[in-house]
Amino acid sequence: MIDLSKAFDKPEEGLKYIPVHYWNIRGHQVAFLRLIRDDGYTESWLMCDCDFQERSAPIILGSSNDPHACAAKKTVYTQVIEQEKQWYEHYLRDHSVKEAILHIFERSRAQEFLGLQYTSIYAQEVAELLSMQWRDVLVHIDELFTEEKLNLNGMILVPYTHRFRFPKEIQQLLRYMIEEPLGWPNGDAGDCFLHDLEKAIHEYTHYKHGKDAFGYGGNYPHVDAHILSMFGMKWVRDALTSYAIDAGKGDEKAKENFMDIYREIGLLTEQCRLIIEKLH
Ligand SMILES: [Zn+2]
Repeated sequence: MIDLSKAFDKPEEGLKYIPVHYWNIRGHQVAFLRLIRDDGYTESWLMCDCDFQERSAPIILGSSNDPHACAAKKTVYTQVIEQEKQWYEHYLRDHSVKEAILHIFERSRAQEFLGLQYTSIYAQEVAELLSMQWRDVLVHIDELFTEEKLNLNGMILVPYTHRFRFPKEIQQLLRYMIEEPLGWPNGDAGDCFLHDLEKAIHEYTHYKHGKDAFGYGGNYPHVDAHILSMFGMKWVRDALTSYAIDAGKGDEKAKENFMDIYREIGLLTEQCRLIIEKLH
């Protein structure tokens, strides 16, 4: 039995531990505990005596003195996930996948124990609870983002906040431009850059939503084809310009062909520019 008075009450640290649920696994007590700080901040963890043992040596992750290595705890994680999977199998009979995702997200935000190790919830974990492939879950999360109900930070589910964002295709391009020189993929370097850039646009311009810049009639959060083609053609034109110069040094026919393509792209770019102007 976990001795709450001895192990969990640490008034000197301003911490209070409230047991939410207990399990007895082969005589080993495991508890889901809510940690409440004096300032009202709370965290919730699955804990057992292993977390509070006096140790002569420091904890080595994955070794036998690591509290996460506790077999009883592992049993609880497995049991609860199985229960939740069954519960959601039932829930999905008369609810949509999107409703189930929001349901899981709200429960994790309320720090309910869903059989997961950490309080933040990953798309892959949602997929496990719904017995789905995570790529299929991402499609639904994508729709929830478009509906402005949910967002992903990396693969972690986070609440949707209203602010300026580039369309997804341009976000991905900007991420790549930042991370490619560092060795793609490179952690969250691209995401951090993107966040700062979008935050600055939100704060210092009149663009408070991606739609303000990329059109209300379009298919935001994706970019309209004509805008993407404007970007694409500009780059192709730049590339062709230098290529045409090289070609011009040699074969006359090659030069002619490149100049034809170049002129056509120029005309299309001009048409796109006119469309964009009408949008603003
Ligand atoms: Zn234990």
